[in-house]
Amino acid sequence: MSSEATIRSPSRRGLCLVLVAPSGAGKTSVSRALLAQEDSMALSVSATTRAPRVGEVEGVHYHFRSPEEFEAMERAGEMLESAAVYGRRYGTPRAPVLASLAAGRDVLFDVDWQGHRLIRAALPGDVVGVFLLPPSLPELERRLRSRGQDSEAEIARRMAAAREDLSHWGDFDHVLVNEDFEATVRTISGILAAERTRRARNPWLPEFVAELMAGGR
Ligand code: ADP
Repeated sequence: MSSEATIRSPSRRGLCLVLVAPSGAGKTSVSRALLAQEDSMALSVSATTRAPRVGEVEGVHYHFRSPEEFEAMERAGEMLESAAVYGRRYGTPRAPVLASLAAGRDVLFDVDWQGHRLIRAALPGDVVGVFLLPPSLPELERRLRSRGQDSEAEIARRMAAAREDLSHWGDFDHVLVNEDFEATVRTISGILAAERTRRARNPWLPEFVAELMAGGR
C-alpha cells in the first residue's frame, strides 16, 4: 500500500468546487470531464420550478418541483441557497451536500455567480470558487454557435449576459482562461489536489503528527 493510501483519512472534509463561467465558455464540458476523472466527486443536483426540457431526467439534471413544493422545502430549511431567475426558482438541497462533505466527498456545483456567492455565504471555508474566462468575446460567440443549441435571439441574449457575468470574476479564488480544453481540465485537477491538502480540511492531522512524533508510526 502506498504511504498516501495509508495516510489518507476518512475524516478529511470534502470541499465544494463551484465552477462558474459565462454561457459558452465551456463550463458544462469541463464539469463532465472532471466528474469522469474524479471518481469520488459528487455533482450537486439543483431543485427548480421550471419544466423539464426534452432529455432531462428527474434527479439527474434537476429535481423538478412545483412552486408549492419548492416553497415548502424552503420553509422547512431544506435549501442551502435559492434564487429566482426569470420568475423560476432554483435552489440547492442542503442534505446531500452536507452528507458528502462530512463523508470526505467533494461536491461540484454548476451554478452562476450569484449561486457561488450564496453557497460561499452558507458554507464559509468549504468553497473553492473557479471562474472560467473565454479567450475572447468572438471566440465565446463562436462556441455558442458551434454548440448548435440556441437561436440567434438566444445567442444575442447570452452574449449580452456574458458582460455582466464577466464583471464578477473578482469574487473567485481561481480564474483561468479556457483556451486549451485539456489544459483547463488539468489545471482544475491541480487546484483540487492542492485544495485538498489545506490544513483546515484535514482535522486528522494533529493526531497523525502527534503519533508520528511519539514514534507510533
Ligand atoms: P457552457 O456550459 O459554459 O455554456 P459548453 O461546455 O456547452 O459551455 O461549451 C460551449 C461550446 O464550446 C461547446 O461546443 C464545447 O465543446 C466548446 N468548448 C468548450 N471548451 C472549449 C475549448 N477550450 N476550446 C474550444 N471549444 C471549447
